Amino acid sequence: MNYSIIGAGIGGLTLGLAFQKDGIDFKIFERFSERKRIGAGIWLSPNALQVYDHLNLLEHIKERGNSIDRITIGRPDLSPIMDNPQDQIKAKFGYSAIAIHRAELQDILIESISNTNLELGKSFESFQLIDNSKVESKFSDGSTFTSDLLIGADGIHSTVRKQLFPNSRIRYSGQTCWRGVSKTTLDSEFDHRVYELWGNQIRFGFSRISKNEYYWFAVALDEPDQKDDLNKSKSKLLDMFDSFYSVVNQLISNTPDDLIIRNDINDLKPLNKWYKNNICLIGDAGHATTPNMGQGGAQAIEDAYCLSLLQSKSPNECVFEQFQKLRQHKVNSIVKQSWTTGKMAHWKYGTGLRNFILGRLPEKYLSRKMIDLYTINAF
Ligand SMILES: Cc1cc2nc3c(=O)[nH]c(=O)nc-3n(C[C@H](O)[C@H](O)[C@H](O)COP(=O)(O)OP(=O)(O)OC[C@H]3O[C@@H](n4cnc5c(N)ncnc54)[C@H](O)[C@@H]3O)c2cc1C
Repeated sequence: MNYSIIGAGIGGLTLGLAFQKDGIDFKIFERFSERKRIGAGIWLSPNALQVYDHLNLLEHIKERGNSIDRITIGRPDLSPIMDNPQDQIKAKFGYSAIAIHRAELQDILIESISNTNLELGKSFESFQLIDNSKVESKFSDGSTFTSDLLIGADGIHSTVRKQLFPNSRIRYSGQTCWRGVSKTTLDSEFDHRVYELWGNQIRFGFSRISKNEYYWFAVALDEPDQKDDLNKSKSKLLDMFDSFYSVVNQLISNTPDDLIIRNDINDLKPLNKWYKNNICLIGDAGHATTPNMGQGGAQAIEDAYCLSLLQSKSPNECVFEQFQKLRQHKVNSIVKQSWTTGKMAHWKYGTGLRNFILGRLPEKYLSRKMIDLYTINAF
């Protein structure tokens, strides 16, 4: 059985690495001809890290990222609403989340993939089934590639999905997000923490990703598809978060204007099926979620591990049905919970009661919930 994988994002690359380890034949096709360095960070939670541990990449990630000992949802003045030290997570898995620059993660993944298995500058256009046993992928340069199985790992706007399930629907959450990486140093109390500060229908999150770099994001309500004038994002954000604790302004100020990126926060209305015939979707292509639980990438990574595991156990079978059975329930509940969390963070009314309830959730309960989330069923 050989695979074509469309997309060299977190999901496609991790799947390639898992296949490489399990001796499964594959080729990845990525539309960009050179590595695109996204100026943002990512939190890799312990479920993602278990997979990277299995792929022998954990030490590289630890070296190039920053471990998180405490996660705090707070008010704009930094006072905690809900505070969760990660000791129990560490005790269970051996590590807590790691915050890392996305470009560093991408480098680690690409450096580990064999060159012959990755083709850059190949923009997938469409597929065609051949005798119900093979699938031919067609690319914008006119070339084609035939394989037994095809994986759409081409992100939320997946071209594979649009052909496979034309009725799939992307949902706008009503929230837009700015992200940046600030070269700055803060007091050592911020070294190993994630803060997410909830203000009046706006929020700001940050954590250190390397010695002198902090990743931050800012979220506000807005109409979809709004753009900022070039070089205006910074002053707009400085105004918006003026009343927040001083480090917020420091982080925004120390980020070059042209490196502040803005995206709407969307997810994918859950699909009934992730596969049809010999074609299957993984990661955001199949189940994009809002980023409120920091789980989109982690779920793409779990997909990669589980699919490779199932395929290596049944080398001559198509395992897509088993794959969906193993993964879909967990993924759908994350999509739902993440959507609700995002809405709750931007409530206009009832925030006093919300904060009161969140503040009284026992640490043991929060840790148990996190441990459930980070447990990979197939391990
Ligand atoms: C604001 C924000 C913050 C987030 N924070 C976190 C976090 O902290 N932790 C976490 O786990 N997740 C987080 N996520 C989610 C995470 O970024 C995504 O879930 C993850 O990137 C999905 O990986 P993927 O490989 O499925 O898709 P993508 O990363 O989108 O990769 C898709 C790849 O396919 C390629 N491609 C697309 N179309 C074609 C085509 N036609 N032909 C060939 N190639 C193609 C693209 O160029 C790209 O390389 C966040 C998301 C957002 C928006």
